[in-house]
Amino acid sequence: MIMITRKLFQEDVYKKDCISTIAEVHGTGTREDPFLLVLDETVFFPEGGGQPCDLGTIENVPVVNVFEKDGVIFHGLQPLHILEKTDSNSQKNDWKPGDKVSCNLDWKRRFSHMQRHCGEHILSGIFFSECGGVNRGFHMGSDYMTIDIDVQEITWEAAERIEMLTNEAIWANLPVSVRYFDNPSEAEHLPLRKALAIDEDISIVCVGDESNPADCVACCGTHPNTSGQVGLLKILKLENYKGMTRVYFKAGEEALEDYRNKHRILTDLNLKYSSDDNNLLDKIRAQDEKNKEIRQELYLMKNTLKDKAVSEIFNEYGIAAAEPTTKVFSVTETGLLIREYPYFHANDLITITKALTEIYGSSTSSSKRNTAKTSDIGGKNYPLFVLVSTRENTIILASNGAHDCGKIVKDNAHIWRGKGGGNANSARALFPTREDLECYVTFIKQAYRLPEAER
Ligand SMILES: [Zn+2]
Repeated sequence: MIMITRKLFQEDVYKKDCISTIAEVHGTGTREDPFLLVLDETVFFPEGGGQPCDLGTIENVPVVNVFEKDGVIFHGLQPLHILEKTDSNSQKNDWKPGDKVSCNLDWKRRFSHMQRHCGEHILSGIFFSECGGVNRGFHMGSDYMTIDIDVQEITWEAAERIEMLTNEAIWANLPVSVRYFDNPSEAEHLPLRKALAIDEDISIVCVGDESNPADCVACCGTHPNTSGQVGLLKILKLENYKGMTRVYFKAGEEALEDYRNKHRILTDLNLKYSSDDNNLLDKIRAQDEKNKEIRQELYLMKNTLKDKAVSEIFNEYGIAAAEPTTKVFSVTETGLLIREYPYFHANDLITITKALTEIYGSSTSSSKRNTAKTSDIGGKNYPLFVLVSTRENTIILASNGAHDCGKIVKDNAHIWRGKGGGNANSARALFPTREDLECYVTFIKQAYRLPEAER
């Protein structure tokens, strides 16, 4: 026998619970094969028409999805392994056809869907009557809705006017009627926004009087019986979408939630900027200007400090080479050149090592001459630069041939929990603590200094 589930939500959309008789039991309750109950009648709306399904409980067992197939509504239950973890009282695995079960809707969720869905009707109806745009796609997401209106360009001003007309239709508290027809010809006299796409079991939703409705269209969803219950509708943004306009909006309780959230953010910002809603933007702009000046000042000061750091190193270790524009490094006692800086970031240190090696690089002709023995540039080893940013626990290594910086990091930094890498000329390593960093520097001092004989 083919059975059709009686849809109680079509008879009374406000019915929140019912006692139903189990008609069929499918599944075994496992994760892969959860119980699916077919009931003789149900308050649960299955997914359809862009509206998500209802949730709730059957005999206190959570209903996790509801869908319809050929007029039969299936109620998917929470699998047993999850029930065992959460609430043993609601565990049930002896569903039998003929048993009576108590069904309860998650009414807050359902009513929110009704508000949002009805809001979408009115907004689509008014887009249609005001600019001839037909809604070609509807999406009801968990935190906003979209409709795709087949008009290429809608200005924000036009959208705001339509939003106002929509809210006026909501506040007019118009009746929302649903009428059922067996075939399309019976419904043809209605002022439909869209041509009928189905041949039987037609339900037509009309917001307001049929002679001049805010909306009139075929729909299988659930709607409140007056438009006033939508409460509020707010358009969030417009977007071009495949030659149409995608309209993002919220309605009902979710619009209030959105207002609350935005109000909370504004309140926090006003506190932070000692402002009110009216002068907040001015205060933010003024702060931005100030920040810009500070950044510029900081940039100039940092550059001066970096130049100073470079010349300090050269004054100490740079010596004139054979060519007048060139400098090379004299040997240090150990072949290492270690400097610590409390105020520089690692990236600043890279700029400094670049400046050092670039000036050095102008003597590449002499370095090429010395490629056979790179350790003899300037008479002795070209030093290994070891620059340390103590504020970031980061070390920058730089060399121009005598050392492989990437290898020095790769082989040893991990011993002190350092992370990083690089190439032969330049590498960096970041350490979790100052102590780790200092251990690594001590290691480099011992491992990479020149042997006594070469000093
Ligand atoms: Zn609808």
